[in-house]
Amino acid sequence: MEEEIRKAAEILAKSKHAVVFTGAGISAESGIPTFRGKDGLWKKYDPEEVASISGFKRNPRAFWEFSMELKDKLFAEPNPAHYAIAELERMGIVKAVITQNIDMLHQRAGSRRVLELHGSMDKLDCLDCHETYDWSEFAEDFKKGEIPRCRKCGSYYVKPRAVLFGEPLPQRTLFEAIEEAKRCDAFMVVGSSLVVYPAAELPYIAKKSGAKMIIVNAEPTMADPIFDVKIIGNAGEILPKIVEEVKKLRR
Ligand code: NAD
Ligand code: ZN
Repeated sequence: MEEEIRKAAEILAKSKHAVVFTGAGISAESGIPTFRGKDGLWKKYDPEEVASISGFKRNPRAFWEFSMELKDKLFAEPNPAHYAIAELERMGIVKAVITQNIDMLHQRAGSRRVLELHGSMDKLDCLDCHETYDWSEFAEDFKKGEIPRCRKCGSYYVKPRAVLFGEPLPQRTLFEAIEEAKRCDAFMVVGSSLVVYPAAELPYIAKKSGAKMIIVNAEPTMADPIFDVKIIGNAGEILPKIVEEVKKLRR
């Protein structure tokens, strides 16, 4: 493990344009459950029902009740893994973070260039009258168990700008993510099972473009063969160690 951490640090220390790609696993240590991991939420809920756009239109309440389970998600704090990535950006190594998460923890940890492939909870739109809201306007009531409702027209169809099942990914963001995967010289995956499109695709694009490949995940993934450095473990423990090693190498 120490050897792998050192190898990862060597790649990053030499990199002129590193890209980090994150999934739900990076936020697990912030208390947010993953979808597919061992305590994954899909064991309890049917995603097609509660987290799809058609499900939301049928029954927004079911969507919000599911989200209540993730309440921590909406009020969680960044963990050492998020901070480590922000530090690598300040050091001039990481040029972009591509994330599948909607929890905004990268930004709150200080990352500046964050490409949110699945949108975020930050803004909501009323599907009936098109009024737009900041999440902060509903956060307090939501903590008390009240679901968002349009202040202007009274509709319950107030949808967060998180990408639900059945919705397209934000095309501009996806395009930028693909560009980053093509131009980077190091690509580091943190906490993703790499099964959902385009997660399953981006590492291959980076690999094909000649990037050095690193993965830090709690369990092996199907894509493991394309990685030069594979570290099985918790992101919050591993990433700060990698940053420490990078600092030593750069001294
Ligand atoms: P996933 O749930 O499919 O996989 C998460 C991976 O992280 C698993 O392979 C697991 O072994 C690993 N993991 C768990 N804890 C870890 C830790 N402490 N350190 C390192 N790795 C850890 O997640 P995914 O691949 O991101 O894809 C699922 C979809 O679910 C994504 O679209 C994502 O948007 C969404 N999601 C987002 C959040 C969030 O915003 N925080 C939470 C749950 C799901
Ligand atoms: Zn409205």
